[in-house]
Amino acid sequence: MAFKTDIQIADEATMLPIEEVAAKIGLEKDDLEQYGKYKAKISWEAIKKIDKENEYGKLILVSAISPTPAGEGKSTVSIGLTQGLNRIGKKSAVALREPSLGPVFGVKGGAAGGGYSQVVPMEDINLHFTGDLHAMTAANNLISACIDNHIHQGNALRIDARQITWKRVIDMNDRALRNVVISLGKKADGFPREDHFMITVASEIMAVLCLSENIEDLKNRLARMIIGYNLDGNPITVADLEIQGAVAMLLKDALKPNLVQTLENTPAFIHGGPFANIAHGCNSILATKLALNTSDYAVTEAGFGADLGAEKFMDIKCRMSGLSPDAVVIVATIKALKMHGGVDKKELKTENVEALEKGFANLRRHVENVKKFGVPAIVAINRFADDTEAEIAKLEELCKELGVRISLCECFAKGGEGAEDLAKQVVELIDEEKADFKPIYDENDSIVNKVNTIVREIYRGRQAKFTTAAKKQVKKLEELGLDKLPICVAKTQFSFTDDKDIMGAPTDFDIEIQDVRVSAGAGFIVVQTSNIMVMPGLPKIPAANKMDIDNDGVITGLF
Ligand code: ADP
Repeated sequence: MAFKTDIQIADEATMLPIEEVAAKIGLEKDDLEQYGKYKAKISWEAIKKIDKENEYGKLILVSAISPTPAGEGKSTVSIGLTQGLNRIGKKSAVALREPSLGPVFGVKGGAAGGGYSQVVPMEDINLHFTGDLHAMTAANNLISACIDNHIHQGNALRIDARQITWKRVIDMNDRALRNVVISLGKKADGFPREDHFMITVASEIMAVLCLSENIEDLKNRLARMIIGYNLDGNPITVADLEIQGAVAMLLKDALKPNLVQTLENTPAFIHGGPFANIAHGCNSILATKLALNTSDYAVTEAGFGADLGAEKFMDIKCRMSGLSPDAVVIVATIKALKMHGGVDKKELKTENVEALEKGFANLRRHVENVKKFGVPAIVAINRFADDTEAEIAKLEELCKELGVRISLCECFAKGGEGAEDLAKQVVELIDEEKADFKPIYDENDSIVNKVNTIVREIYRGRQAKFTTAAKKQVKKLEELGLDKLPICVAKTQFSFTDDKDIMGAPTDFDIEIQDVRVSAGAGFIVVQTSNIMVMPGLPKIPAANKMDIDNDGVITGLF
């Protein structure tokens, strides 16, 4: 029998009206702003009420080994785990990031889980959802329009057109827009200048939205965002342009977390979606807090491997919000570990215990890293149909030697039932090992020291090497007094190094830092390593080529 696709499984789901899902976590109909039958945003009144009235539950972060093209399945395991927790009688909600259209039409595929651990309605979630990303795109581009208009209208702020750091965005993988020239034409069309598009999720607007706790906080952060420098080299902010109110207004609904459901009708908050390689990689603080406030076990996910998503979750999101994780689930797949052990993608179906053992070094490093934050960890093997008994037994043995719990997770094939063991073990782990969370560096340390701490403690390289240009940027931030902020490293997700082809657990390498800039609204310093792009491109045959919709509105090919 052929396996069903994710979209076939999702289509067969029996969804509950969203108010019934909300009722499971004590939210009433009045607390919801409904977008049709199965999607809702949570109202401000409800957010304020819940935050005051409820105790926090336990916070579980789902992270992973360094990803490979073989896929590892963090969203699938996050959703499976929350379904599993509910099955064993623990009230649980999941908080996830919302998908960007770029990867949907590129190679990666959906961000709504897989198999019998998905969030639904998956088409809506993967496509325009409740319009949050479009609102962010508009908000970002309002700022761009105002910058160029300001210059055109006489440039009272003396903005240096050569030093505008604010970029336009679009929610699409479109390499043609990476480097553009704008304002071509006549006098009335403005002053021509070079500009650059990023994908919306890389925008500081996305980071600000994910880190804001209310509208006032949002507005203050938007006001602080630096759009470039004037002719004296001093920063120009959104507040200087006097548009923070208008930008905040465009985001008024986007700031409210979205509620949907899993295939087993358990609540799922899906809100905010920065990538973890080029941005901070976590869903909104508001969504995580809502999940924590309304349930006993909140499951949340951070993007890519634990060197990126989990590090930023701990050092940026938790540091800023006061959140404190109680446990981390590190997702690994046997296929991916074999690739880290040197096996070619085409050979992954063949049993190879030796390669698995070699590739285990990648998992070991991520487990050790998570423990450095003072948080207990458990490994979840996301089981694929080709995994052999000998490979599973070997992985269990290696985890035992390392002193880390391991659970064989079959939530892709069996839904929550396949994650019951993981759920039980996570509950036990939280009961037995009390977390003592602490970030890995002191934000008051120098930029160079903070980056070096991440490179040495997390990536396990020798040091960060700053290019001459990056050194100058560091000095400038120090002069401006904007250096005492957390670090957001932009780095390839495929390797601990800045070279995507070096898999496993490499040592004796340096990390080259090419660009250092402040996201003053988000409140972190972006440190860009070599070879990282903020506007992805599409592959030779994009996923878009196999998608379709028929006259009844039935979609095919969307995973
Ligand atoms: P991540 O969150 O790590 O990016 P996802 O959970 O989104 O990964 O899964 C990526 C893709 O892999 C999805 O299309 C999903 O259907 C598929 N997938 C996940 N787990 C399994 C599994 N155990 N067997 C087969 N396919 C899987």
